[in-house]
Amino acid sequence: MQILHFEAVGQGVEPPQTFAVRLASVDRRVIAGTLSGTLGWRPKNNLGAGGNLVTESVIEVKDFRKTYGDFVAVNGISFAVEKGEIFGLLGPNGAGKTTTLESLEGLRVPDRGEMRILGIDPTHQIRKLHHLIGVQLQTSGLPASMTVQEAMAFFCSYHGLAPQYELLDRLGLGERQRTQYGELSTGQQRRLALALAMAHKPPVVILDEPTAGLDVASRVELHAIMRELQKSGVTLILATHDMAEAEKLADRVAILLRGRIVAAGSPRDLTATGAGMTKISVRTEGSSLQAGGVSFPAVTQQTTKDEYAVYYSTDPGASVSAVLHHIEDQHDHLIDLRVERPSLEERFLEITDGGSR
Ligand code: ATP
Repeated sequence: MQILHFEAVGQGVEPPQTFAVRLASVDRRVIAGTLSGTLGWRPKNNLGAGGNLVTESVIEVKDFRKTYGDFVAVNGISFAVEKGEIFGLLGPNGAGKTTTLESLEGLRVPDRGEMRILGIDPTHQIRKLHHLIGVQLQTSGLPASMTVQEAMAFFCSYHGLAPQYELLDRLGLGERQRTQYGELSTGQQRRLALALAMAHKPPVVILDEPTAGLDVASRVELHAIMRELQKSGVTLILATHDMAEAEKLADRVAILLRGRIVAAGSPRDLTATGAGMTKISVRTEGSSLQAGGVSFPAVTQQTTKDEYAVYYSTDPGASVSAVLHHIEDQHDHLIDLRVERPSLEERFLEITDGGSR
C-alpha cells in the first residue's frame, strides 16, 4: 500500500488544502497524472531527485533478487512497509526471509532491484542507515565473555549515546547486568538483543525470529514491547515461523515461498480469502441436521463430530442463515452454533502446500 499526499494548486484555492490517497495495486504515476492534469491537484513533497515520485513508505523493496552462485534465493520480490506498521515476513525454511532482511540491513548485496529504508539505499549508504535501524542480532553476534552492561555501553557508544541501562530493567535483565553473554539463557539473550536494537531509539526495527525459543510469558512480554514501539511510531519488520505471533502482531504479512511472494495482505484478509474452509459446527435438540439429503449453500464438505453437524463453507453468512432456517422449518431447536475462521497457520499451510512445496 502506498500513500500519496496531494495539495491544491491554481486560482481560487486557499492553501493548505491537502488530501491523501492510499493506493493498492494501481500505478502511482497514472493516479498522480490524472489528479494533477484533470483536477488541478499535484503531489505534495512526493517528487524526489529526477522527478521520480517518492512515497511515504518507510521500507520499499522493488524487484529484489539475490542469488548464491547458481542458486536463486530470492527471485524478484516487491513490497512496501508504511510508517508505524508491523510487517511480517513468513515462509518455510529456506524461503528467503533472512536473505531479504539482511539485504535491508546492508549485510548482503542484491543482484537486482531496489531497496530503500527511509529513502536510504542499504547497500551504498550503510553508515547512514545504522543510526536509523535497530537490528536484533542473532546469538553469535556478541562475544560470550561480554557482560550485559558492557554490551549496552558498547552499542550506545557506537551511536554516540550514554548507555541506556533502564532498558535492561524494562526487558527483565536488571539483575543480569553483570552476567556474561555466554551465561545468559536463550530467552535472556533474545531480550538483550532486543534491548540493543532499541537502545538508540531507531525509527525502524528489523527482527529475525524475535521470539524463537522463548517461554510463553517472555513471548507475551516481547509482543507487548513491540506494540509499544509501534505506538510510538516505530516501523517494524520481522521474520517469523510463529503464525500465532504474526496473526496477533502484524498489520500485514507477505508469505515467501522459494524466493517469491505467494500471498500478501493483512492476516484477516489472508484468512478470509482461502479455499473457504470456515468451519460451522451446529448442535440441535432433534435430528433435523442428521437426515440425509440436506444440503446448504456454499458448503463444500460436511461431517459429524460428537453431537455436532460440521460444515465447511466458502460463504459462512449464507450457510449459517440456511442452516438456521432449516432448523426452524423442521421445528427443531438450536443448542449450540460455532463459526471458526481458519487460522493464519491453516491458511499458511494451504498456501505453501504443507510448508514444503
Ligand atoms: P529459515 O526460515 O530456515 O531461516 P529463510 O527463509 O530465512 O530460512 P534464507 O536464510 O534467506 O531463508 O535462505 C534462503 C536460501 O538461500 C536457502 O536455501 C539457503 O540455503 C540459501 N542461502 C542462504 N545464505 C546462503 C549463503 N551464504 N550461501 C549459499 N546459500 C545460501
